[in-house]
Amino acid sequence: MIEFRNVQKYYGKFHALKNINLKIDKGETVVLIGPSGSGKSTLVRTINGLEDIQEGHLIVNGEDLTDKKTDINQIRTDVGMVFQHFNLYANKDVLENVMIAPRIVLKKSEDENRKTALQLLERVGLSDKAHNMPSQISGGQEQRVAIARSLAMKPKCMLFDEPTSALDPEMIEDVLDVIKQITEQSDMTSIIVTHKMWFAQEVANRVIFLDDGQIIEDRKTNEFFEHPENERTRKFLSKIL
Ligand code: ATP
Ligand code: MG
Repeated sequence: MIEFRNVQKYYGKFHALKNINLKIDKGETVVLIGPSGSGKSTLVRTINGLEDIQEGHLIVNGEDLTDKKTDINQIRTDVGMVFQHFNLYANKDVLENVMIAPRIVLKKSEDENRKTALQLLERVGLSDKAHNMPSQISGGQEQRVAIARSLAMKPKCMLFDEPTSALDPEMIEDVLDVIKQITEQSDMTSIIVTHKMWFAQEVANRVIFLDDGQIIEDRKTNEFFEHPENERTRKFLSKIL
């Protein structure tokens, strides 16, 4: 589903991803952790082509992103992304925010699009906010709209890059609950960057620890937290847990 083969990523001379080898199967939920600047966002952003790579191969849904023939727009349709900062269309209501991409990109009929959008809003607990404007809902609710908006494109993969780090503490749990429910109730592949270790333990099949652009540890969730093998992982966990 997603495969990195000897991937090297540079920003100019700066070596941001160092020989990444990683295979994520369909339906897996992988949590990516690591210190600030370790390359988590960079890694996630390469998957939908927001960052290019300089060496190696990156295969997403069977397409090699380094192949010039690969249609990056198709990849982006299949790979949803939720960032720290949700950029909802401020002049459109919640429902319209969810409907706009499927209408334009997928050419969905208005009735079907609306039905799906309302179902998605129900799924993220926002049925009653369909006609509110983004300025009339909370940050946590905005982030849940952003999730519904991504899901409306029926992606095969979802990337979450610190989806709760811009939120007030009391909103974090609602958003994480939604993400948990989505990853459990679908066969989507998900990669989640988070500093919430309790959440990683609940949601992930696997945890990957990235440090200085390298994968230091990649283990099943229980093993990762119970018996981290690498000294750097242990140090990181002792600081964060
Ligand atoms: P954080 O936890 O703070 O979000 P991160 O693990 O997501 O950190 P990245 O944003 O992937 O880290 O950055 C990895 C490294 O690449 C950092 O040293 C950063 O300074 C560098 N970097 C990121 N984006 C660029 C860029 N556009 N140009 C140059 N260097 C960059
Ligand atoms: Mg980051």
